[in-house]
Amino acid sequence: MIKRLLLLIVISISFVNCKTTKEKTIEKPNILFIMTDDHALSAISAYNGFLAKVAPTPNIDRIANEGILFKNMLCTNAICGPSRASILTGNYSHINGFYKNEGGGDFNENQQTFPKLFQKAGYKTAVIGKWHLGTAPTGFDYYKVLFNKEGQGSYYNPVFETTGNKLVKEEGKYSTTVIKNNAISWLKKQKDAKEPFMLLYQFKAPHRPWEPGPGYEDYLKDVEIPYPTTFNDDYKGRRAAEEAWMRIDGHMNRKDVKIKPPKSLTEQELIDWNKYGNEDGEFWTPDDSMSDQERKNWKYQRYVKDYLRCVKGVDDAIGEMLNYLDESGLAENTIVVYTSDQGFYVGEHGWFDKRFIYEESLHMPLLMRYPKKIKPGLSSDKLVSNIDFSPTLLDLAGVEVPKNIQGKSFTKLLSNPEEEIRDAVYYHYYEYPYWHHVQPHYGMRTSRYKLIHFYYDMDRWELYDLKKDPNELENIYDKKENVQLVKSLKKRLKILREEVGMNKSLDELRLMTDARIKRRYKVEPAN
Ligand code: CA
Repeated sequence: MIKRLLLLIVISISFVNCKTTKEKTIEKPNILFIMTDDHALSAISAYNGFLAKVAPTPNIDRIANEGILFKNMLCTNAICGPSRASILTGNYSHINGFYKNEGGGDFNENQQTFPKLFQKAGYKTAVIGKWHLGTAPTGFDYYKVLFNKEGQGSYYNPVFETTGNKLVKEEGKYSTTVIKNNAISWLKKQKDAKEPFMLLYQFKAPHRPWEPGPGYEDYLKDVEIPYPTTFNDDYKGRRAAEEAWMRIDGHMNRKDVKIKPPKSLTEQELIDWNKYGNEDGEFWTPDDSMSDQERKNWKYQRYVKDYLRCVKGVDDAIGEMLNYLDESGLAENTIVVYTSDQGFYVGEHGWFDKRFIYEESLHMPLLMRYPKKIKPGLSSDKLVSNIDFSPTLLDLAGVEVPKNIQGKSFTKLLSNPEEEIRDAVYYHYYEYPYWHHVQPHYGMRTSRYKLIHFYYDMDRWELYDLKKDPNELENIYDKKENVQLVKSLKKRLKILREEVGMNKSLDELRLMTDARIKRRYKVEPAN
């Protein structure tokens, strides 16, 4: 009897073990993390903004139609490299050390990142496309990242660094196409692999200088693009906004709007001619007979059409990738994430670029599809932030989330979009004066309010009630009736700063802005 009982126990244990192993192998999801550069929510039709009808993005929208759309995914430092560093580490800029693009040195590649944790957990990992962190990618079985233009890469003739520090020049090719082809071909190579994959599929587009791909030059040619409601903002009550060099009329250069330079310029003369317009007071007009408003509108139309052409190229590349997932039978067990390193001003407040804590650059698009766990057609307006990507993806893959990650997993929102993950998000921007004279600032976004402190060489606070003033045109910080509100929000901000480990004095923060740490990029190879 005892023997039979023991035998039964042994059999049961082996059965359970066998089942667990088998289930684990089957259950590990693949991860396809798609990220573009500077893609505004208003330029993704799933968000139904002012550009949705004129320039739809059906392929990106498909991810949300078959999954979930996040309306409040917020960046913690709205500039390329720092946002990428926060996504990879799950930590704030002041913790991961990469807080500026300009004069902030390179990303410390020896620190913990989510690709490393996935690799350790048995995943095949790769990154293809834009990287922009200086040091070569670590934690990847394969990488091929844009190398030239200090890691920004170029739209045409891009140069990549690939696994083993090799350089690859893609002569005569367009970056979006190269990145798409390389990503699909890497996935094809994983077809018979036993391990699940994690691929970061990252585009340069639609970053400045907004150069459309072959075949996209005439898209929207005869259409007048609508203007955002804040296009002619006067920046009243917002000194930092007024001082920024981000205006479409005042700070866009000739290259931005693709004016053909005169022939016979020397190399240096051509560079100077192209960049003229960047700085305050560098006035130029394509036509002397234009009024101020006509000139601003003209520059906007030139800029926004090229921006949307770059977006269209990306949307098509994503469509091809989604089709490949369908054809190869991978769609069901692959988590697809679409995001951008931060938002962008597509004419809102009369601007281009990003950096500010204001809504358009603070918001990152986020669309996710995972048929096994996410019902189609969901949306969530709960607050999540870019430090939450890492713990969320690890959580979804059943990999333990290390305690030193500041972000929180938002997997709960995938089944219940109304769950609250956080009541407030802390934000901090450090870079000054390059490139756009945006004053360093920190602040907090709650579901209703935004409190901001510009501190570098001004001491200005701003407060917005997003329910009453979603476009942030009226700074209500100094209003008598808001004394109590300001007091309670400042109290929450103080605690939030403690929670994220931000204990630096204003003088220490100014020194971080003033620091000029060189990058170790190799010199761009001569073409
Ligand atoms: Ca960016």
